[in-house]
Amino acid sequence: MENVEVINGYLQSRGSLVQCALTESKGRILVASRDFESGDVIYTEPPLHIIEEDENSELFRQLEQFALVHDLCYSARWCWCALNSLTAGDLEQLPLRCSLISEGLQRQLLWLCAPDENDSAALPAIQQLLLDLGMTTDLTDKFWRLLQVWKYNSFEYSDDPVASAIYLQASFHSHDCNPNSNWVADEQLVLRARRPIAAGEEVTISYLSDEELFEATMERRMRLRISKDFHCLCQRCSEHWDRSRGVRCRCGSLRFLAAEGSDLSPCDAGCAWPAVEVTKREELLVQLCRQQADADRATRLATAQSFAPAAHQLLPRHWATECLHKWLAEGCATKKEAKECEEKRLEFLQDAYEGAMRNTHTAWVMQSLAMWTLSSCGVLREDPPPSPAPSTEREGYEASDPTGRICETSLRKPLC
Ligand SMILES: [Zn+2]
Ligand SMILES: [Zn+2]
Repeated sequence: MENVEVINGYLQSRGSLVQCALTESKGRILVASRDFESGDVIYTEPPLHIIEEDENSELFRQLEQFALVHDLCYSARWCWCALNSLTAGDLEQLPLRCSLISEGLQRQLLWLCAPDENDSAALPAIQQLLLDLGMTTDLTDKFWRLLQVWKYNSFEYSDDPVASAIYLQASFHSHDCNPNSNWVADEQLVLRARRPIAAGEEVTISYLSDEELFEATMERRMRLRISKDFHCLCQRCSEHWDRSRGVRCRCGSLRFLAAEGSDLSPCDAGCAWPAVEVTKREELLVQLCRQQADADRATRLATAQSFAPAAHQLLPRHWATECLHKWLAEGCATKKEAKECEEKRLEFLQDAYEGAMRNTHTAWVMQSLAMWTLSSCGVLREDPPPSPAPSTEREGYEASDPTGRICETSLRKPLC
C-alpha cells in the first residue's frame, strides 16, 4: 500500500483541497484542507483509467467461462480489468488480445486499496487462469492485486458498453451512511459538499445509492459486505435503535426496532409487547419488496395495493413501507391518493436520519409531492412524470439525477 506522502504529493500537484491521512481504524482517508459550505465543489477529477468490456472478444468469453467453471468469487469483469491493466513488460512476447498500459499508470493503480491481499483462498484459481492464458505464474501477485484494485475502487462509467473507471483521488474516500459529500460522475467526477465541512474534517462519500441509504442498518451492512467486503461502523450504523425500522405500538405511539436483532425501544405508555410478533411480519414485508423490486409496474402496483395499508398500520416509519408507497404513487388512480402516498413517504424519509433532507431520493419525493399538489390544485394541467427508477448498479448518482438542480433550489426553499 502506497504511503501517504506519495499520495499527498500527487494531490498537491493537482492543487487539490483535500489531503490524505492515515488512521488506525480506517487506513487512508481524505480530509478537507479548508472549510467548505454546503453545495461547494470540493474537486472535479477526470478518470485515471477506463476499461470497457468487450463481450465479442474471445478472451473475454474465455474469462467468463473460467469464472463459471472455477466458481471464482471475482467475476470475469474484474479479471478482464486486471488483464487490461498489465504492461508490455508484464506480458513480454505474449500475443494476448488485451490493451496494455504504461508502467507509470500501473504504478498509480497499485496505490489503491486491495483488502484481500492476504487472503490466499482464490490464489490457486488465479494461477490456473494465468496458466490457461499461457502466462507465467510470476504475475500471480500483481494480477491478484490489480483485480482487487478494480473490484474495490472502480466506479460504473457506462452501461452500454459496460465500462468501469478509476478516479484516483476519489478512491481514497471512505464510506459513511450519512456522508458529508456527494459525487456525480459523467465525463468528470464532481464532488460537492452535502453540508458544511470544516478544515481537518474527513470528507466521506456513500458507496450505496441514495435510495439504499434509507434501508435498515442490517440491509446497508449486508450490501456493503457483499460489494466492498467491510462491516460499516459509521455513526449511523452504530446507533442502537434503527430509524429505518419504525413500528406503531398497540397504543399508537412510535417505537423502533434495534439496528441488530429484534429489541423494541420502550413504549412511553409502558406497553409490554413481544417484538417477535413485529419482526415476523417485518420479515415478510421485506421479502415481498425484494421479490417484487424487478417486477413490472402493474404487478408492483397490485402488490402495493394489497399490502401498503397493513404495512403502514404496523410499520409506519419503515423503509419497506416507503417502497410500497412509491409503487402506489406510480399508479395511483387519483391525484389526491398520489399526494397522500408521497406525504407518507416524505414523513418517513425526513425522519430516517440526520442527513435525509439532503438526499437525492428525498429531493425526488419532494418534487413529486410538489407536482401532485400543483396538479390537484389545477395549476398544472398534466400529471407529473414518475420518479426515475434509481439504478441498482451505480454506486453514486446518475448524471441526470436532480441533486444539483433540486438540492440547490427546492431543498433550500421550503415547498408550500
Ligand atoms: Zn454505516
Ligand atoms: Zn405502547
